Amino acid sequence: MAHRLTKPLRLLLLGAPGSGKGTQTSKLLKFYPELYSLSSGDIFRQQIAAKTKLGLEASKYIENGSLVPDNIVTGLVVDHLTKEVILPDIKHWILDGFPRNIEQAKSLDTSLAHTIAGNNNKCVFNLVVELDVPQQIIIDRIVNRWVHIPSGRVYNLQYNPPKVPGKDDITGEPLSKRPDDTEEIVSKRLKDFNLLVKPLKEYYQNLGILKVVSGETSDIIFPKLLDIIKKNF
Ligand code: ADP
Repeated sequence: MAHRLTKPLRLLLLGAPGSGKGTQTSKLLKFYPELYSLSSGDIFRQQIAAKTKLGLEASKYIENGSLVPDNIVTGLVVDHLTKEVILPDIKHWILDGFPRNIEQAKSLDTSLAHTIAGNNNKCVFNLVVELDVPQQIIIDRIVNRWVHIPSGRVYNLQYNPPKVPGKDDITGEPLSKRPDDTEEIVSKRLKDFNLLVKPLKEYYQNLGILKVVSGETSDIIFPKLLDIIKKNF
């Protein structure tokens, strides 16, 4: 059944690599079909698959688990948000993977917060939810993760395998293994995340829009996330 939001929702999902941001986004999109989602990681993977100049540049960083430099990623996300969300005046949207650090958060707000109608002019988001998942579970998950690059849909061989092995459920197209989803590279990505997330959380906490949901599986986390949205939007 299609559910509706009663107030504009501008949601940031924060969480370690493998915490299930993509999975929660898919579930939210099914529940609220009017929601629009944008993932910085998906944009990069699409650019890499299309072998664009930006994709080639970004892949140097992504493949070894490093973050793409702020100036590249911020420009890209601001551009996508402007063209796909703000100009067409999309009211309800989710961002996943950006901002990843405090500098990106501030640049995003400086560039776009004032362009959103009815906003308090300080922050582009009006809800930030951190998905808090134990880190030993995360490593296990990522090593078993497969992705449908054009849509960003994620599958896990243990928890939510595709209906046909190796194929996306909706399009039937092949799934890929991300080159940065190895145990070694994941450890590096987790370390970076832990370092960067603290100031980011403080920033949104100070704006009064941060919530945290904890759980070991996406099925435990989703109802908690939904509850927060239903109560406030
Ligand atoms: P995950 O959350 O599983 O690490 P993503 O799909 O969000 O993966 O991102 C994959 C990679 O893309 C990151 O490891 C990083 O190299 C790059 N990337 C994505 N978003 C950002 C960002 N906001 N800042 C810098 N690099 C980014």
